[in-house]
Amino acid sequence: MKLHPVAASSKRSIRLSDPDATAHGDVKTGDALERATAKEVDRISDLQRVLYADERFALLIVLQGRDAAGKDGTIRKVFTAVNPQGCTVASFKAPTPVELHHDFLWRVHSEVPPRGMIGIFNRSHYEDILVPRVHKLVPKKVWSARYDQINDFERMLTNNGVVILKFLLHISRDEQKRRLEERLTDKTKNWKFRAGDLDDRALWDEYTKAYQGILKHTSTKWAPWYVVPADDKDVRNWLVARTIADALQKLKLRYPAADEAVLKLKIE
Ligand code: AMP
Ligand code: MG
Repeated sequence: MKLHPVAASSKRSIRLSDPDATAHGDVKTGDALERATAKEVDRISDLQRVLYADERFALLIVLQGRDAAGKDGTIRKVFTAVNPQGCTVASFKAPTPVELHHDFLWRVHSEVPPRGMIGIFNRSHYEDILVPRVHKLVPKKVWSARYDQINDFERMLTNNGVVILKFLLHISRDEQKRRLEERLTDKTKNWKFRAGDLDDRALWDEYTKAYQGILKHTSTKWAPWYVVPADDKDVRNWLVARTIADALQKLKLRYPAADEAVLKLKIE
């Protein structure tokens, strides 16, 4: 099984249903899955070294998903073999008063990785459609205009060497319940629980609609969305890692050739 990008400007809405949170088709399990994931994680590590040396492209990974969808776990597992020097992570929280006085992309643009680097967004500018829409913070006119604003922004980045992959970690309602309960019972996970998470859970269907709108309007040729069946963490990691490794491979990255004059130098 392989992830496929959500079709660009699709007429039909993508439906995010609970069964879609489980991977269907050819999926390995147990040790075989672990080995397959390790292989992809190593591919990313090797390709990242060339990305860094090559300096023609940056890779921007956008991770979105509901609370407990596994954004943090994906970062930990998929990028575990990447040189920390070649990688940045930006976690977007509710905007500060200063950020709110700027356009919504202001804080985002400065976190976009430079060429040679991998940048991971743990939440992103898509929160600026989701939260205002679901919590009715601004009129529809404002949040819906952001589809085009984001598409234009992402196209500009792509034209400047930033390769963008967007992953929606899709979990079912039952799986979120299980994971949130674990955050209450497991002392090492208590810190992750915020009472506000329950408010968002109560708005499940509204978030579903908002995510479906995002998939419909902002999956583009230059910055595609991938919906990841994320109820099983190991399968999720394998699918995301494989998609990233394949995208890096397609760039035909290369180590820059040394200068002829440099090669003739003798080191005494
Ligand atoms: P967490 O990712 O669990 O640390 O939570 C971060 C919180 O910040 C989530 O509730 C997000 O919905 C919220 N957040 C992030 N970006 C925005 C945004 N642009 N507008 C409103 N809320 C946001
Ligand atoms: Mg949270």
